[in-house]
Amino acid sequence: MILQLLEEGGIVRRDKQLGYHLEKKDAKTEDLVQLAEAAGRKGDHDRQALERMVFYAQSGFCRWKVLLEYFNEEAEWDHCGHCDNCMNPPEKALLPLPTSDQEASAVAKPASTPSFPAGAMVKVPKVGKGQILSSTDEMVTIIFPDSQKRTFLKNHVELL
Ligand SMILES: [Zn+2]
Repeated sequence: MILQLLEEGGIVRRDKQLGYHLEKKDAKTEDLVQLAEAAGRKGDHDRQALERMVFYAQSGFCRWKVLLEYFNEEAEWDHCGHCDNCMNPPEKALLPLPTSDQEASAVAKPASTPSFPAGAMVKVPKVGKGQILSSTDEMVTIIFPDSQKRTFLKNHVELL
């Protein structure tokens, strides 16, 4: 059994009331992977479960939670607060990495300055002059001196 392996490896200890506890609180990914591989060789778990555990062990999730889930034990918390990933979360490891420089620059690109900023004075042919309240990519909403609000396509509006 893998729990015996973990006990022999000093990673867990058995408690009569509460079951197994994480003993080696600084258990590293390599330790867990090694144990999972050992268990996999023994045929205690299927290959998919092993691969899943290796993936999570390397991903920055709580190591203890990953371990419990590998044994089909439900962890009622997300972080044990004791393993190295909980003490020092490598949050960056959980973020998807941009696949190319082009994508990275697209994400970093600031929003373009609106061509019709709110508050600017405009003129609408055959309607008159007004002030911009808001604008979208295609539409501009204008308030006119008679307090009427109307929305026009941008190409009908002239900035003053
Ligand atoms: Zn943890």
